Amino acid sequence: MTAWEIKGWCPGALRPMQSGDGLVVRIRPPLGRLTPQQAQAIAQAAKTHGNGIIDLSARANLQLRGVTEVSHPRLIDDLRAQNLIDPDIETESLRNLIVTPFRDAETTQLAATLTAALTRMPKLPGKFGFALDTGPRPVLTQASVDIRVERSPDGRLILRPEGHPLGQSVTDLAQDAIAMANWFVQSGGITNGRGRMAALIAKGTVPPGCTLAPAEPLPTPTPGLYPDGALVALAFGQIQAETLHALAALGHEIRPTPWRMLLIVGATELPAIPGLITDPSDPILRITACTGAPGCPQALGDTRTLARKLAPHLAAAQSLHISGCAKGCAHPSAAETTLTATGQGYDLIRNGTAHDTPSQRNLSPQAILDHLKAPNAPHL
Ligand code: SF4
Repeated sequence: MTAWEIKGWCPGALRPMQSGDGLVVRIRPPLGRLTPQQAQAIAQAAKTHGNGIIDLSARANLQLRGVTEVSHPRLIDDLRAQNLIDPDIETESLRNLIVTPFRDAETTQLAATLTAALTRMPKLPGKFGFALDTGPRPVLTQASVDIRVERSPDGRLILRPEGHPLGQSVTDLAQDAIAMANWFVQSGGITNGRGRMAALIAKGTVPPGCTLAPAEPLPTPTPGLYPDGALVALAFGQIQAETLHALAALGHEIRPTPWRMLLIVGATELPAIPGLITDPSDPILRITACTGAPGCPQALGDTRTLARKLAPHLAAAQSLHISGCAKGCAHPSAAETTLTATGQGYDLIRNGTAHDTPSQRNLSPQAILDHLKAPNAPHL
């Protein structure tokens, strides 16, 4: 039994989720990319129908916040005019696909093929997702998905179930992906409508023909220039509508990533737009913080204001997870240091998750700040 609510489904545009600051409307960019016009329309819609705040999710989707029951239908009309809305809720909820931002024309074609195949999958749990990671080397290995499309070191396509080091050789991407999803269902991967591939694989059940290793993955990229364009980061994965407007006005395709960064395709210099982080050493990038109070109704304290106060004082190389409650949405796995809001302050957890046993309880924000500012202060 947990003290927090587990929803077991992800919001969409047609099926938004209620949050502390209104409805959260999640846009899944088709094929993982936005034209400048689509990005402009999203920025305008966020201002007109929401509170102007847009989150970039860990699955490379955009979430408009502060939408109301009254503004939602008009928002959908505006986004539909830009081909950003699926025909119905069912189609939308099936489109759980992350596409690598670093790609060639074949990847975009493969994304179209896999997207079409998603509508022919068996009934899968709401969180079940796919990654199309078909650049020369995988870059999406940290993303939470269930079936991965990658390349072997010699460039062959492979289909790899999450949690297993090897994958199957692909002969027909759509058919093979559907077959692996069917295998998941028939092998007992779903209980009470929920289930993840990694949990099934951990029981020692493996789909047939998994003999090929993927190419060595690349580390998670940092902001900077890449052959595909400029990668810019957003503090806590949040962008203001004005910033997205300015970015879209540069006229480049924009590819959201699961790293709380946007790839500005074809840009040859880093954009100097307020609100974008282009310095990979910026300490705010070492802090993960969920929405917290007041945006999340389950939050027991603020997260991001505290993060901005602490960031300049973090020891070099220290990373920090600040969680508004013990659920730990922004960093479900163990972190070096976690501060979990309790309503009476923040519990300090070392090398654990937001709900592990704390080493110190109910620290005040000032006590945490004083600790960091102390001369020769050790890591939190
Ligand atoms: S971890 Fe953060 S975002 Fe998740 S439920 Fe708790 S307060 Fe809300």
